[in-house]
Amino acid sequence: MLQEEQDHDERAAGLRERVGDTPLVRLRRLTAHLPEGVEIWAKCEWFNPGGSVKDRAAAWILEAAMASGELRPGRRLLDASSGNTGIAYAWLAARLGVEVTLCLPSNANAERKRMLAAYGVELVLTDPLEGSDGAILRARELARDTDRYLYLDQYSNEANWRAHYESTGPEILAQTQGRVTHFVATLGTSGTFTGTGRFLKPHGVRLVSVQPDSPFHGLEGLKHMESAIVPAIYDPDLADLELGAPTEESLELVRRLPREEGLLAGISSGAAVWAALRVASTLEQGVIVVMLPDGGARYLSEPHVWEAP
Ligand code: PMP
Repeated sequence: MLQEEQDHDERAAGLRERVGDTPLVRLRRLTAHLPEGVEIWAKCEWFNPGGSVKDRAAAWILEAAMASGELRPGRRLLDASSGNTGIAYAWLAARLGVEVTLCLPSNANAERKRMLAAYGVELVLTDPLEGSDGAILRARELARDTDRYLYLDQYSNEANWRAHYESTGPEILAQTQGRVTHFVATLGTSGTFTGTGRFLKPHGVRLVSVQPDSPFHGLEGLKHMESAIVPAIYDPDLADLELGAPTEESLELVRRLPREEGLLAGISSGAAVWAALRVASTLEQGVIVVMLPDGGARYLSEPHVWEAP
């Protein structure tokens, strides 16, 4: 087959077909103290090909860019990311033969940087003190060169939340046979919460969003909305309940998940499970679904997680 025909096949096959359908796993030991009628189920997003929930958003964002004709040969993909979106763009772009430039705070952990480098991503490292907002501001500057860059802007891109409206939401409804009563998700761009929430709300599901409880939190991938650039796609009216997760208690759950549930999950998953347990403690009956955005293998070198008392 000619290279051109192969490329065409890759695009026609649909990027979205390659992501999602992740397992939903019941938490048993962490929930042993709860009434029998209260269940917590964890959606394990590291089973996506790029290892995180962000594969969904990236696939939808890139499909939309292809459909609109903005993704032209020679134009590099550009965005700001704390890492997972960058990795998602990276593997999808490699399949499409497109280059990626990523603005990333320089204190992103070594695994992230090495992984991105392995995929050939050009990294623009930004001031760690400015956090993810510093990376966003740098990406906005670079984006002015529209011949060189296609700025995907996951924080404002409607395809981000649509990915979850069209994939995560329906999966959760099907995997619980419609039994889901509460949905719990952490906020970064808010794409996961907004898209899944908009799909599940009309089915009577109560929506719980989780942010760090303070601006200086160490919960990688998450935004403290009050002190950060608020994503354009964030819908402040959607949540039925907003919870602020404390860092230490979240990290404790990151350590307990592999030992007690066999789930080596990432740091933000600790915050998500903290919130799910909090909600569960108020119920007599309920089926809570909680998003675990990525896996723990990405954070094993983080001393604040694994070398804690
Ligand atoms: N957890 C992790 C580890 C993430 O990388 C992200 C995305 N930044 C999130 C949670 C939040 O996902 P979303 O951007 O869909 O709100």
